[in-house]
Amino acid sequence: MKPKIIYGPVLSRRLGRSLGIDIIGPEKTCNFDCVYCQLGRTKNKVQRPEDICGVSTEDVVQGLKSYLKKVSQIDYITFSGTGEPTLNLRLGEMIREIKKISDVPVCVITNSSLVNRKDVRDNLTEADLVIATLEAGDENIFRAINRPASGIELEDIIQGLTALKNLGPRLAIEVLFVDSKREYPTNISDQAINGLIKALKVIDPDEIQVHTLSRPPAEDFIIPVSEQKLTRMAQKFDEVLGREKVRLVLKGLRRKSIDVKHEDLKEDVYGLILRRPSTASQISSTLGIDAKDLAAIIEELLRKKNIVEITAENEKYYRAVS
Ligand code: SF4
Repeated sequence: MKPKIIYGPVLSRRLGRSLGIDIIGPEKTCNFDCVYCQLGRTKNKVQRPEDICGVSTEDVVQGLKSYLKKVSQIDYITFSGTGEPTLNLRLGEMIREIKKISDVPVCVITNSSLVNRKDVRDNLTEADLVIATLEAGDENIFRAINRPASGIELEDIIQGLTALKNLGPRLAIEVLFVDSKREYPTNISDQAINGLIKALKVIDPDEIQVHTLSRPPAEDFIIPVSEQKLTRMAQKFDEVLGREKVRLVLKGLRRKSIDVKHEDLKEDVYGLILRRPSTASQISSTLGIDAKDLAAIIEELLRKKNIVEITAENEKYYRAVS
């Protein structure tokens, strides 16, 4: 099944009603292989933008035009999806074109890997909001959690984010804390947190989002951090980095479902699962569809082996087969 470039809108804990644009897929393509990745392991691991084709600006604009006729009440148009969006060097041009046809603010969610490249930074400056991930202030922890392609170094990322901070878009750093069932380097020790604080002080972002995983991770030995621990970590960040900057993102934001006119319901369900593994109730509320209609579609996608069922935290999720 060929998924559409535009998907959702998804109900995001951080962005509200967010219409997603995937300029990398349909297969997960990334220069990281994060242990916590909700899309599973990275089979197609690349190093640089020059290694991928990516979708065209024209396809994004056409896709968005037709979506905007069907959906209203969008809080953000967000570049995210089945891989790292900054690997597509047309990103800046795409944002400029989107701004000609829509007033909705544009967000890019990036793993920060390429932000030390000037062309990538120039692309990101076209956005209204950049959410950039940073899970470590220490090279060894960075390598263990994000498992980057060769040539990507934490020091370059910190330098790139510091340079981006003064270029225009609002910069939010997303810190995702992970715990492990077994002996594995994570970012929750005092030493790891102090390293992160040091890096965040240098970058000086507009906002710091503290959260943990909320979907099944790529590695089954990785587990979320308890809400209690997460709150303690956010408090530590508050003390050193300033309360007004730190935002604790907890599970369980509930928003009203969205009224979307679906041309092809099955395609929309698959498109959502491909970019965002979800439970049946999450899919129902995100796409505003009836549980019974959804059950039939899920059954068919499972039968055709387009998706698989995964259990995490006692909940049943559906993830696309790559
Ligand atoms: S979490 Fe994001 S950066 Fe990490 S492997 Fe998955 S898609 Fe890539």
